[in-house]
Amino acid sequence: MLHIGCHLPASKGYLHMGKTAVELGGDTFQFFTRNPRGSRAKAIDEKDVARFRDFAAEHRFPVILAHAPYTLNACSDKEQTRQFARETMADDLKRMEYTPGNLYNFHPGSHVGQGAERGIALIIAMLNEILTEDQTTTVLLETMAGKGSEVGRSFEELRAIIDGVNLDHKLGVCLDTCHVFDGGYDIVNDLDGVLETFDRVIGLSRLKAIHINDSKNPLGSHKDRHEKIGEGHIGLDAFRRIINHPVLRDLPFFLETPNELEGYAAEIALLKANYKE
Ligand code: FE
Ligand code: FE
Ligand code: ZN
Repeated sequence: MLHIGCHLPASKGYLHMGKTAVELGGDTFQFFTRNPRGSRAKAIDEKDVARFRDFAAEHRFPVILAHAPYTLNACSDKEQTRQFARETMADDLKRMEYTPGNLYNFHPGSHVGQGAERGIALIIAMLNEILTEDQTTTVLLETMAGKGSEVGRSFEELRAIIDGVNLDHKLGVCLDTCHVFDGGYDIVNDLDGVLETFDRVIGLSRLKAIHINDSKNPLGSHKDRHEKIGEGHIGLDAFRRIINHPVLRDLPFFLETPNELEGYAAEIALLKANYKE
């Protein structure tokens, strides 16, 4: 079956997100661990988490996906910003252990002119400081659109990060369809070729989640503007091939399209109708 959900606001807690995911027709969701632009995290409500864990088991949620705040930049040129990234991610990973065995996605960062090589070295340094053998969470590097000085614009850059991390078995990749298309990978006309490249460079066993978004801009534009499913340059035919592809069809899919909840419910229904059981 198609495992699908969308990005949900976290303000009303885990159980509320779980119930909303099911109401929308899905069996998973993504959420921000804290305000996407700020640093404050709400205290974990252990009762809420316990109720959510029962609910998720009952409704057979595969995994849930937490997303780090956008302000987290492990490869900033400012030590203060890098320290915020280290502290925030370390705290997020502690909080993730209340819901063991799930996924935590982050944007590798922006090197702000220092160059990708220096950026990659700083990201590796943070991960080597923070990841622990005991954690049950898999940390995902998100494929980026290559906007500005973003690191992670190519599969090679993600591979270089993974190669430097000691506890690399705690790492995976989240492929964002809008971002890779924006990054120049033609998932519309050559999905097989892109997946072969991913396998050769990173290894498909690292691929743990898909952000399923259409793109407002054409192939290779490096703009990172998400569009509703079927209304952008990727298009519904390509998404039908993506969700049914043998190496992707069992992964969890997360919508980050410009929608309110009603729109997400419609997109989940649309993708489910196009999924071949
Ligand atoms: Fe993201
Ligand atoms: Fe994304
Ligand atoms: Zn994006």
